[in-house]
Amino acid sequence: MFENLKKIVGEQYVTDDPAICYSYSRDQHWNFVPAKSPACIVMPGTRDEIREILLFADENKIPVIPWSTGINVRSLTIPVHDNSILLDLSRLNRIIEINEEMMTATVEPGVTFGQLMEETVKCNLRPSFPDAPLTASVLANNYLRGIYQTSSADGHDHTLSFEMILPNGELIKTGSRAFSDMQHFRYGIGPDIAGMMAASPGTWGVVTELTLKLYRVYDFEQAYFVGFDSVEDAMPFIRDINRDGLVESCRLLDHHSYITGLFGTFDYDYEKLPEFVACILVAGIDGIFQAKNELVKKHISESPGKLLDIPATLSTHFREETIAGSEKSCMVFGLRGNYHCIGIYGPLTHVPKYWELHKKTASDAGIPDDHVYFYVNPIAPFYGQLCYIELDIFYDGSDAEMGKKIREYNNLQFPRLLDAEIYGWFRPYAGIIEPTLDRIGYQAELWKRFMEIADPNQIMNRGKLF
Ligand SMILES: Cc1cc2nc3c(=O)[nH]c(=O)nc-3n(C[C@H](O)[C@H](O)[C@H](O)COP(=O)(O)OP(=O)(O)OC[C@H]3O[C@@H](n4cnc5c(N)ncnc54)[C@H](O)[C@@H]3O)c2cc1C
Repeated sequence: MFENLKKIVGEQYVTDDPAICYSYSRDQHWNFVPAKSPACIVMPGTRDEIREILLFADENKIPVIPWSTGINVRSLTIPVHDNSILLDLSRLNRIIEINEEMMTATVEPGVTFGQLMEETVKCNLRPSFPDAPLTASVLANNYLRGIYQTSSADGHDHTLSFEMILPNGELIKTGSRAFSDMQHFRYGIGPDIAGMMAASPGTWGVVTELTLKLYRVYDFEQAYFVGFDSVEDAMPFIRDINRDGLVESCRLLDHHSYITGLFGTFDYDYEKLPEFVACILVAGIDGIFQAKNELVKKHISESPGKLLDIPATLSTHFREETIAGSEKSCMVFGLRGNYHCIGIYGPLTHVPKYWELHKKTASDAGIPDDHVYFYVNPIAPFYGQLCYIELDIFYDGSDAEMGKKIREYNNLQFPRLLDAEIYGWFRPYAGIIEPTLDRIGYQAELWKRFMEIADPNQIMNRGKLF
């Protein structure tokens, strides 16, 4: 295998050095998925090389794991099978186009958020941006259907089209791309193939290009932090400002410790904060901003919440975290070094129930209260009161006992959340497929069959989903 790959990409771009392979063998989810090294790492530099690697792997039934930037916190690039090829795509790192007129960008897999934002801000545009390190791949994130927890106003789907190479060497272009060089419309003819590919981590083929939406950066902005004594108290306020389309960014965070986790690098007396804090950013062009701002102030004054006096540094940081206006944006996990997260979608009406369930399951699994965090991010369009909800545990990753408790938390929580009714999961977490597939009927069968058509020899990241 090694010799064949060397012929395709050249000696310097393939290695089976155990030390290098080991560095790809684990991620932040080490408490859930045992480390496993790929047999070799290959770094193609062109689409032709990718095609040749896939054809070789397909013919010889060798598992292939696409890897764009490997930030993943869900074990999705940790091999399941022996003798796997890890396809490191980081050499494909060109921004192919930023189209100011169309408000789109077209990128290769290795392009990071930091790299893209550096260019888009020059024309007052930005991608939708996750609370992830700036080194994360824009393509992988959109392909995993991520980025739901930043700017509420961006909505939930930023993908316009993909280009993908299948294991049989065929190139698929989705949406309007299929007809011409115009990559800017999701729906060309027939089914939404981009939608079907998305959120199937590396199991169809290798995505080589993504065209995504860009969003305006506005001149006028104002952040507010509003404290509430309970999650229930905050609900009508959060509902109304979202229903009225007033906020660019909106998050409801649990008690002060979460904010300490998020903003912990700043010198601030976090102990003073109330149980829940709504962080809000109003933005817009001149006139519209002022009108929205007045309405938001009115909603705040009519709510049971208390407007908090937050220092400018915190406020700036919130802006950077949520609308990505700055290359300094980055999540700060200052609390205990590691975090476990289950992200779900559900309606705002169910949020108090999810919060209670999170606390109860953590307690049942023996996890202390002060490790338990929670936040809610409403998403536009707000139909169905759509929210991204994150159930977090901040913990010391080197504590093996705590690792066991978190595994127990997962075992209890997956079925409990399904029973409590959720819209869906943020990502395919380790251990989630089995309890979920049982509940989706024939859809599961159809999904498997689609995968078999795209990848009949089952080489693409097999074992991760099925
Ligand atoms: C502290 C922290 C906070 C985070 N917060 C958020 C958040 O708020 N929102 C959010 O959306 N994400 C968040 N993330 C996750 C992160 O943004 C994503 O993991 C990332 O964007 C995807 O890039 P990656 O490097 O993880 O992809 P990789 O690890 O390279 O790949 C992830 C999966 O996609 C597949 N894949 C990758 N590239 C391709 C390709 N070209 N073709 C086919 N399959 C491919 C892989 O096989 C794998 O299964 C966070 C991560 C961290 C560390």
